[in-house]
Amino acid sequence: MKLYNTLTRRKEEFVPVEEGKVKMYVCGPTVYNYIHIGNARPMIVFDTVRRYMEYKGYDVNFVSNFTDVDDKIINKAIEEGTTAEEVSQRFIKECKIDMDGMNINPATTHPLATQEIDGMIEMIGKLIEKGYAYPAADGTVYYRTRKFKDYGKLSHKNIDDLQAGHRDIKVTGELKEDALDFVLWKPKKEGEPYWESPWCDGRPGWHIECSVMSKKYLGDEIDIHAGGEDLIFPHHENEIAQSEAANGVEFSKYWMHNAFLNIDNKKMSKSLGNFFTVREVSEKYDLQVLRFFMLSAHYRSPLNFSADLMEAAKNGLERIVTAAEHILHLQKSAAEEELTEEEKKALEESKLYQDKFETAMDDDFNTADGISAVFELVKFINTHASAENTKGYLNALYDRLKTLCDVLGILLEKEEEILDAEIENLIAERQAARKEKNFARADEIRDLLLEKGIILKDTREGVQWKRA
Ligand code: AMP
Ligand code: ZN
Repeated sequence: MKLYNTLTRRKEEFVPVEEGKVKMYVCGPTVYNYIHIGNARPMIVFDTVRRYMEYKGYDVNFVSNFTDVDDKIINKAIEEGTTAEEVSQRFIKECKIDMDGMNINPATTHPLATQEIDGMIEMIGKLIEKGYAYPAADGTVYYRTRKFKDYGKLSHKNIDDLQAGHRDIKVTGELKEDALDFVLWKPKKEGEPYWESPWCDGRPGWHIECSVMSKKYLGDEIDIHAGGEDLIFPHHENEIAQSEAANGVEFSKYWMHNAFLNIDNKKMSKSLGNFFTVREVSEKYDLQVLRFFMLSAHYRSPLNFSADLMEAAKNGLERIVTAAEHILHLQKSAAEEELTEEEKKALEESKLYQDKFETAMDDDFNTADGISAVFELVKFINTHASAENTKGYLNALYDRLKTLCDVLGILLEKEEEILDAEIENLIAERQAARKEKNFARADEIRDLLLEKGIILKDTREGVQWKRA
C-alpha cells in the first residue's frame, strides 16, 4: 500500500511503526458552529483511509480531537450570553449527529482540548527545560522556533524566507525574542476561561493541543498525522517542532493532507461566508450522497461543489443500491443448492473487480478509481444474477459488493428501522380509530406495524409492542 507523504513529497510504501497496527491522528474541528461541508471532506476522506486499513487487517487506533477552547468559541459565547463550554458542548453534539449521518465511524478516542490541560502544561514545562521555549514578562510562553533545526521540513519552507516575511510586521507590545516564535501558553483576558499554570493563569495555544493529545493517546511515534492542506503551515509544522523537541523522536512517519473543497473554485470557508453546512445539505440530500460525492475525486485533488456533481453522485449511488436490492430480492426465493460450475466461474470473475478496487486504493487511496471498480462490479451483477441462481452464489456476490461499499462507508440497505416515537404515534392513532369503531383503520395500522416487524399485543394494561 502506497501513500503520498507531504513530508517527503513522494508516494511511499506504508510500513507501520509497529507491525499490524496503525496509529493515526486527524486534527478535528473547532466547535463553535455547525460544520460545513469543507470540514466534512477530511472527516470522510480519513474515515475511508481508516476503513481501508482495517479491511487490510490492521488494528487502527484512530484519534481525532475537538478543539473546544478558542477565540471563536469564546466570541460566540459572549454573543449569545452563554459560556464557552456550553457552546462547544452543543456543537460537539451537533457535529456527532452530522458525522453519524455521513456514516463516519466514531474515533477510538475523541479527546477534548479542555480535558488535557495538565498534559499541555507538562509538555510546555519540558520545552522550557530543554531550552525550546521561554516565558515572557507577561506570562506568555513562546516556542523558540529557530532553535528547532528542522523547522520548515514539512511545509518545505526555508526559515530565512519565513523570517523575511515577518520583518515588516513587528507587532508592538509583543515580548517575543524573535518574530518567528509562536505561542504555547497565553495569559487570560477578562471573562475568558482559564487554567492555572506556573507562568500565568491562562490557556494553551492551538498547536500544543494536538502534540499533547497525540502523545497521550497514541504515543511519541505515530504512523499517520492528517488534516486539510491548510494545516500544513503553520499548524503541523509547529506540532512537529513541539513534539520532536519534547520527545526526542520522529513525531509522525507519514503526513497526509486533503485538498480543498471549493465553491466556484474558491476554498469553502466560514470566513469567506461561501459555505454550506452539512445540516443544510442534509435537508436536500441523503448524506450518503455527500459522502459518495466526496469520494468521487482523489483526496489530493481540489473538488468543486456543485448541484450537477451532487446529482451525478445521487444517480451513481442509486445504481449501486439498486443492484444490491436486486440481489437481495432474488435471494429470497433462490434455491438452496450447491453452486454450479458456472456460478463458481462467475464468482472468480467477479473477484477481478475487487482486485481492481484494491489496486486503486493501494495507490494512495484512489477512491475515484475504486468507485469505477465498484461500478464494474454492479454491471457484472446486473448481467450475472437472475432467478435461476442459487442462494449461495447470490449471497457471495452480495457480500463482495457490500465489502467494497463498507470500505467506502456506503450503506447498501436503506435504514428502514422505524423509530420508537413513530410506533407510539401509530399505536395512539389505532386506539383512537378503535374508539371511533373504525376497525378497518385499526387493522390497517396493526398490519402496517407488522410489516415493519412490530408486533402488538392488546392487554388489560393497554397495548404492548415488541420488535419481531
Ligand atoms: P477548522 O475547524 O477550520 O480547524 O477545520 C477543520 C478541518 O477541516 C481541518 O482539517 C481543515 O483543514 C479542514 N477544512 C476546512 N475547510 C476546508 C475546505 N474548504 N476543504 C477541505 N478541508 C477543509
Ligand atoms: Zn492539530
